[in-house]
Amino acid sequence: MISRKKLIAGNWKMNKTSADAATLVGDLVSAIGKQNDVDVVVCPPFTSLESAGKVLEGSTVKLGAQNMHPEASGAFTGEISAPMLRALFATYVILGHSERRSYFAETDAFINKKVHAALKNQLRPILCVGETLAERESGSTLKVVQTQTELGLEGVSKEQAASLVIAYEPVWAIGTGKVATTEQAQEVHAFIRDLLTKLYTAPVAQKVRILYGGSMKPANAPELLAQKDIDGGLIGGASLEARSFVELVNAAIAVK
Ligand code: PEP
Repeated sequence: MISRKKLIAGNWKMNKTSADAATLVGDLVSAIGKQNDVDVVVCPPFTSLESAGKVLEGSTVKLGAQNMHPEASGAFTGEISAPMLRALFATYVILGHSERRSYFAETDAFINKKVHAALKNQLRPILCVGETLAERESGSTLKVVQTQTELGLEGVSKEQAASLVIAYEPVWAIGTGKVATTEQAQEVHAFIRDLLTKLYTAPVAQKVRILYGGSMKPANAPELLAQKDIDGGLIGGASLEARSFVELVNAAIAVK
């Protein structure tokens, strides 16, 4: 069986000015900027990508964005494209985050266009999927995750699929302090891996990293990260301070 390198990604959301970003990234680089046991990505807001990227230069920490538009350029006021992100040396992009889906009405079809644009521009998509509390309580978790995954990846080839990252983020666990139990998380991660096997074959599915996201903290990370199909974390709140983010990276190193 292929052993997947764990990946810890920080989603800073709408936090940190460009100066604050440089400071936080500087602290991260000092603490974990040389290790290569796990992959580490930080995703600052667009306005901080450049300052963060400069401080990351020469370290093993990678740069990611939180969103992008599927078109390369044009009349899309307020939007940012994949080539613009590449020009700032971003190599990952979070797509389909539940906050984008709920506050900005992003559909699976629109997210799918972004996935294709990201892959075309050598950006690794971190495709977020996950159910709301109502969906979990009505027993439709797996169905929701299946639909979001299948529609989000429509038309993505087997060759492209190997570079994907999927983040399972139960919406009810994001920013709420309510973390999914290890059993709940592992069940959905294994389900996604099976789905990827059906869509792309087992060797490809074994390569795709599936992250857990939703109130992951240093206290609950070791147990989650030890699960067979949990290949890392997408971290919101705990990525905003160097200390907790470094602890999460170290937790991933400990179970690698
Ligand atoms: C997120 O928004 O991707 C996330 C996981 O947030 P938090 O860790 O704060 O729940």
